[in-house]
Amino acid sequence: MSKRVNQQPLVYFDNGATTQKPQSVIDAQSDFYCSSNANVHRATHQLASVATTKFEQARVQVQKFINATQTKEIIWTKGCTEGINLVAQSWGKSHLNPKDVIVLSYAEHHANIVPWQIIAEQTGAEIKVLPLSSQGIISKEVLTHIISERTKIVCVNHVSNVIGKVNPIESVITRAKEVGAKTLIDGAQAIANIIVDVQALDCDFYVFSAHKMYGPTGIGVLYGKEEILNAMPPYQSGGEMINKVSFSGTSFQSLPYKFEAGTPNIAGVIAFAKAIEFISQYQLNDRHEYKQELLEYAFKRLQTIPSIEFIVEGKPDIPLFSFTLKYHYQDVASYLDLSGVAARVGGHCAMPLFEYIGIKGCIRLSLAPYNTYDEIDFVVDKLTALVSKTD
Ligand code: PLP
Repeated sequence: MSKRVNQQPLVYFDNGATTQKPQSVIDAQSDFYCSSNANVHRATHQLASVATTKFEQARVQVQKFINATQTKEIIWTKGCTEGINLVAQSWGKSHLNPKDVIVLSYAEHHANIVPWQIIAEQTGAEIKVLPLSSQGIISKEVLTHIISERTKIVCVNHVSNVIGKVNPIESVITRAKEVGAKTLIDGAQAIANIIVDVQALDCDFYVFSAHKMYGPTGIGVLYGKEEILNAMPPYQSGGEMINKVSFSGTSFQSLPYKFEAGTPNIAGVIAFAKAIEFISQYQLNDRHEYKQELLEYAFKRLQTIPSIEFIVEGKPDIPLFSFTLKYHYQDVASYLDLSGVAARVGGHCAMPLFEYIGIKGCIRLSLAPYNTYDEIDFVVDKLTALVSKTD
């Protein structure tokens, strides 16, 4: 990357927040506006038909990418956050009652906590929280105890945005099924890093955002099993999601359009298809191995920094490292920024996790396949120099 920040070459280690975009994604977005800009599904003219075809082809690509059985199970959203709000408000409002239980984990992003708190307040349902092991993943031992007959839905992350480890979601899903509860998996951090097969997982809902997988911002996916989505009421309403509108009664479209009110992010969807192509390619070639090697290398090098303390035990499964140093994380962030390094520090939209661990926040470095060994060395040397200074 040729960009400079603070007169230094940029080292972008904030891929957990959002990834950089390949040229193919940027081109697809501008090509759409330059050559096929029209609204989808509404008109019969040529341009609208080109736009609609590209838009729906992208849905097929996503369906194949996560191995959903059919395209009607792929709902376009603004991102992960909207997907969770959709399920909480639509499924939650029609299925949750007082004394029902929603199960979350201590390592959830606020996006997978607050929508459930709101629906719990609205319906009288209760929230229970799964504890974590010293490794920072959901403890399997407590699943039978916390996920009980009263549990109606279990909503957990596939990989936490702070811990970077794959949760035992297969065991969570199995236990949820034993008690007849639904499952929602927050795949925000997993989707760019591990192969996701929703049929093999057999989860009921899976959500993710395009911008964390080299795609544009403002577009994401809610996957849901057809029979469950079919039985859910619309989330938002207006154009596009209706079949017939009359003052004597309005009927809704079938899936997936029932959940896609208004003009969607057409350019975003079309560019997202290019991100899926990009990610599918590198998941199958040596870029994937390279990313694993970067992970190993970064973990080894980071451990050489005096006073570093990783927030949980053990190596992460994705190249995302959270730790503290002897200086306040905000000071470390400013110091890194002056050196051209983009890192994320603070509570990482996961305040309950930090309360659980008993610290205020941390420094997070998250890498992608376009990062290099030299960049890792540069950051490790900078941090080592910082903490080696005598106060
Ligand atoms: N869940 C996790 C684990 C995340 O890391 C994030 C974003 O950082 C989200 C949910 C929310 O994603 P978005 O802001 O794209 O909706």
